Amino acid sequence: MHPIIIIGSGLAGYSLAREFRKLDKDTPLHIITADDGRAYSKPMLSNALTSGKQPGQLATADAVQMSTQLNATIDTDARVSAIDTTRHTITLNGKDISYTRLVLALGANVIRLPMEGDAASAVMSVNDLVDYTRFRQATSDAKRVAIIGAGLIGCEFANDLRNAGMAVDVIAPSKTPLDRLLPDPAGQALQQGLTQLGVNWHLGKTVAQVNNSAAGGYQLTLSDGTTLNTDAVLSCVGLRPRVTLAQTAGLHVRQGIVVNRLLATSAPDVYALGDCAEVEGLVLLFVMPLMNAARALAKTLAGQATPVTYPAMPVVVKTPAHPVVVSPPPQGIEGAWRIETPEGGVRALYFDAEEKLRGFVVTGSVAGEKNALAKEIPALL
Ligand SMILES: Cc1cc2nc3c(=O)[nH]c(=O)nc-3n(C[C@H](O)[C@H](O)[C@H](O)COP(=O)(O)OP(=O)(O)OC[C@H]3O[C@@H](n4cnc5c(N)ncnc54)[C@H](O)[C@@H]3O)c2cc1C
Repeated sequence: MHPIIIIGSGLAGYSLAREFRKLDKDTPLHIITADDGRAYSKPMLSNALTSGKQPGQLATADAVQMSTQLNATIDTDARVSAIDTTRHTITLNGKDISYTRLVLALGANVIRLPMEGDAASAVMSVNDLVDYTRFRQATSDAKRVAIIGAGLIGCEFANDLRNAGMAVDVIAPSKTPLDRLLPDPAGQALQQGLTQLGVNWHLGKTVAQVNNSAAGGYQLTLSDGTTLNTDAVLSCVGLRPRVTLAQTAGLHVRQGIVVNRLLATSAPDVYALGDCAEVEGLVLLFVMPLMNAARALAKTLAGQATPVTYPAMPVVVKTPAHPVVVSPPPQGIEGAWRIETPEGGVRALYFDAEEKLRGFVVTGSVAGEKNALAKEIPALL
């Protein structure tokens, strides 16, 4: 019997395999991954210094242990190059392998901004454990790190590197950090918390050039002509779902690989979940949505068709200098923020035209209100 093939060993691929094995111990499972197949929790990459962890300690199991735990064949360092949805095969190293059902858990690519300067290629990014290991090696003696981007990952790394005693500069074109998720007062509160920790901000600016510095390290030239010196540059400017493999195979793709609530793509017996998937129009590059998807898809693959549900899934931003929890209002919902600033925090509530709570941001002293608020928000799916 041909196996169920899962492409990807990130949180999406491995969570699905675990959930499936709770329901079906025997159906052959074949996991194929372009990385080394170690199991790790990606969110821990941006607070590993604070939690005193070396990169290697973030892995909870290697591929051999995962293979035993999951009763699955796992191919590591193996990149699938094509899918033939008519013949039900994938191509790996020039060989075709048949599947009964195929699951795409391919993740997302980091966005790389075009950069000028003789050290432009030294700009790093972190989207997996191997990247992070490289980053930690490159910064083992660093005293200063410049972060490009003030989104969730940029702010988390700023807090973490600062906790480890490094001087941190953050450069971003926005007026406030996390401006796509937070109304201004909440962004300002986060900025202030990180400033008190010692983070230096260069907002309203971009990086024009990265050059080697005669004094060692790098010199960044910003869009307003100012310069700053640093020992390492980390780019955190966002992620985009990996869609090329699916697109080339003729699957319906928009921002992500398009799936319905059964996580089924436009091709028979092919499913997608995690960062690569667009579920009923929603592209949510976070852990909670993929966990919900893994539980539902496991049941579907085990024979009980189960649509995914998305309750409100607040995102906890790992910035202990000023904790932030955000449940963004769904796109296209007409409404307005109502913002209060109690001592030490910000409470921003998004109400729709019918006065229903549809999103919230709570920071600092009121961050603990997240669970109570999340219960008031209607399910996304
Ligand atoms: C630094 C950082 C901090 C984060 N913090 C949080 C947080 O606090 N809370 C939160 O909710 N979310 C957080 N996120 C987001 C969250 O970690 C991701 O949404 C989640 O880990 C995505 O898992 P995934 O399995 O979909 O993708 P990935 O983990 O990227 O896995 C993709 C897998 O697909 C494989 N692959 C891709 N193409 C091929 C191919 N052609 N052939 C074979 N294999 C292939 C890769 O090798 C990999 O194994 C964070 C992300 C980062 C980068």
